[in-house]
Amino acid sequence: MNAVAHPAHVAQASRAGAVLTIDLDAVAANYRLLVERAGGAVVAGVMKADAYGLGMVRVAPALVRAGCRVFFTAHVDEGIRLRDIVPPDSTAYVLHGPPPGTAADFLEHGLTPVLNDPGQVREWRALCVRLGRRLPAAVQVDSGMSRMGLSPADLAALGDPRDWLAAFEPVLLMSHLACADVPDHPMNARQRQRFDAIRAQFPAMPASLANSSAVFLGPDFHYDLVRPGAALYGIDPQPGHANPLRQAVSLDARIVQVRTIEAGDAVGYGARYVADGTRRFATIAVGYADGWLRALSGRGDAYIDGVRVPIAGTVSMDSITLDVTGIPEARLQPGMSVELLGPHQPVDAVAAQAGTIGYEVLTRLGSRFERRYVGG
Ligand SMILES: *Cc1c(COP(=O)(O)O)cnc(C)c1O
Repeated sequence: MNAVAHPAHVAQASRAGAVLTIDLDAVAANYRLLVERAGGAVVAGVMKADAYGLGMVRVAPALVRAGCRVFFTAHVDEGIRLRDIVPPDSTAYVLHGPPPGTAADFLEHGLTPVLNDPGQVREWRALCVRLGRRLPAAVQVDSGMSRMGLSPADLAALGDPRDWLAAFEPVLLMSHLACADVPDHPMNARQRQRFDAIRAQFPAMPASLANSSAVFLGPDFHYDLVRPGAALYGIDPQPGHANPLRQAVSLDARIVQVRTIEAGDAVGYGARYVADGTRRFATIAVGYADGWLRALSGRGDAYIDGVRVPIAGTVSMDSITLDVTGIPEARLQPGMSVELLGPHQPVDAVAAQAGTIGYEVLTRLGSRFERRYVGG
């Protein structure tokens, strides 16, 4: 172990530039809160992009223990990896459906496709007819977002759903909202009305419309199943309101070097920061290659002992310079840890400063961090 005893505020020896801590108890608590809010609807867990960057291998079992048995990924390969992690009695939906020629892979790996266009419907039907088996599939319809799902023209071209649904087992009719994070946006009611009109042509099919934010739009949006992702990971489902969810990640970076600079000294690429007096600077071992967006140059923050230490200068690939003048010099030393995400700085705050959304901050968190899982 270390020959030199470090004070408590110096990070436990780690070779990584930062420690990303993922709190599985927080994810489970967020799942249970969503179950409460969903008023009896089944609550699925959205696992795409490696559980929004938190690590599906650890997140999915934590959700299983919290009672989750329905999961969504975006890609087939994500679904295949998920299948090895979750119990056989759980359902693994693949939102993008089968890429042309891959329907048989879904059957082989026990995945349920979300069918989004007439080609996918035809391919799934053909597989069912060939095997003489009614295999389960979800059908997505476009209620106004124009991204995925059968359009009104597709539905007209396919004809009476009772005919084309007969070849397979239709287990879920779903659509997706464009503006659920803005509760009074007129799109929400408009999409719900369109969804209801389409649903009338698909009698007796369980329905799903809600992502995380729509769980908080009230019972009209819950239907039979809700599909939260972001809220599981602590992202605020209703920006502008108090976030009812627990933060699931914290990120603590390591100080590489501390220096004192004088008036007129420039810091970082482009010399975009120039000191107006004597200041103390710390360089931390996290940069844009780790997902700390370059848009945070000269505008983001970090925290030491709860004290704000602003990013000053340009975010580099592997490092960031912080103005730590507000911290007593005796406390600063290489190896010391600095909060980038945590109690003083939630994911949504970083996103707002970077001009993006919490989803992008989480899904970009890089592969060079040491990952620690707690709870679960
Ligand atoms: C990503 C996604 C979700 C989950 O959305 P969140 O806003 O993260 O809760 C649900 N449904 C579909 C179709 C999605 O693409």
